Amino acid sequence: MMKERELVIVGGGPAGMAAALAARAAGVEDVLLLERDQHLGGILNQCIHTGFGLQHFKAELTGPEYAERFVGRVRQDKRIEVSLRSFAVRFTKDKVISCLMPGAFREVKARSVIFATGCRERTREMIPLPGSRPAGVYPAGLAQKMINMEGWLPGREAVIVGSGDIGLIMARRMALEGVKVKAVIEIQKTSRGLVRNVVQCLEDFGIPLYLQHRVARIHGRDRVNKVDVVKVDEELKDLPGPGFEIACDTVLVSVGLIPENELLEMAGAEIDRKTNTPVGAGVNFTSIPGVFACGNACKVYDLADWVTRDSELAGRQAAQYLAKTEPPRL
Ligand SMILES: Cc1cc2nc3c(=O)[nH]c(=O)nc-3n(C[C@H](O)[C@H](O)[C@H](O)COP(=O)(O)OP(=O)(O)OC[C@H]3O[C@@H](n4cnc5c(N)ncnc54)[C@H](O)[C@@H]3O)c2cc1C
Repeated sequence: MMKERELVIVGGGPAGMAAALAARAAGVEDVLLLERDQHLGGILNQCIHTGFGLQHFKAELTGPEYAERFVGRVRQDKRIEVSLRSFAVRFTKDKVISCLMPGAFREVKARSVIFATGCRERTREMIPLPGSRPAGVYPAGLAQKMINMEGWLPGREAVIVGSGDIGLIMARRMALEGVKVKAVIEIQKTSRGLVRNVVQCLEDFGIPLYLQHRVARIHGRDRVNKVDVVKVDEELKDLPGPGFEIACDTVLVSVGLIPENELLEMAGAEIDRKTNTPVGAGVNFTSIPGVFACGNACKVYDLADWVTRDSELAGRQAAQYLAKTEPPRL
């Protein structure tokens, strides 16, 4: 017979860990935390810059340091079972989760579920970025993982498309590794990132930010060799004029994140098509009773600190739901 668990949390990033600890503090006795990676911590493991924890811990931490403050507590709690390398691939309305693990396929039925599955990056294919398809074009978060976790440098001369926080952080990261970051190109009138990141990541490193500009074409056969840049008007239409070229061997694309909610969708939960986030009665709620979504899966957050705060709430919401509903009779 399939084993039934009180609370299953999918995703072991800051959201999943905060939810697990808060659910325990609110009296949930049995928590299973599924994480597809081999470590807890989620995206924080690749964010080796500082800027985490200013709100929650009143301390300036790196991503891994911030994560570590939760990993230790999760690991110590014997009523939280952490299952790493466990990839949830199927979810049904009656709260059955199917999970792929090395050499095994596991099915678990839960009384309550929290999805803390984070986001994936939007790619070049999702925006109008014409040109050839050479090597050297990467989503910025992937480039961050390559540099910070794998020890690879994606190139020597880079242009960054998009000035959200990931693009800004990567401009500085590449500059620190000796890459010539030629420009950050932003189609909007202002940067989409935090002001502190514009100052600390671009201005302090002399990296130009071209607002109201777009990359109109990527050139290169085997490898990127240049991009064309044009200025746009208020309606994001190209202004007349020749524009200019920037020689480069790398283009990082940082044009937003998409919350990962395909499992919820699979179970028939209502999803907002525009944002790919669950539709529910309030923060963390979905349209399926007892099923919650928190962290970047619920909405894209600027700061991990706010992810922690709202995911602790998700843990308490799941505990309240469990307290209100009878466990099924055996
Ligand atoms: C480049 C970058 C820079 C940032 N800089 C800062 C900063 O300076 N300061 C700051 O406060 N915040 C920063 N952030 C934001 C912060 O890192 C995020 O808001 C936070 O990590 C989101 O937490 P999360 O747990 O929702 O998602 P994630 O950290 O993405 O964790 C989601 C977890 O779910 C797992 N998962 C997904 N699907 C499944 C599945 N089907 N089965 C099992 N496991 C699954 C993933 O493997 C992952 O471990 C930055 C983010 C990025 C990307």
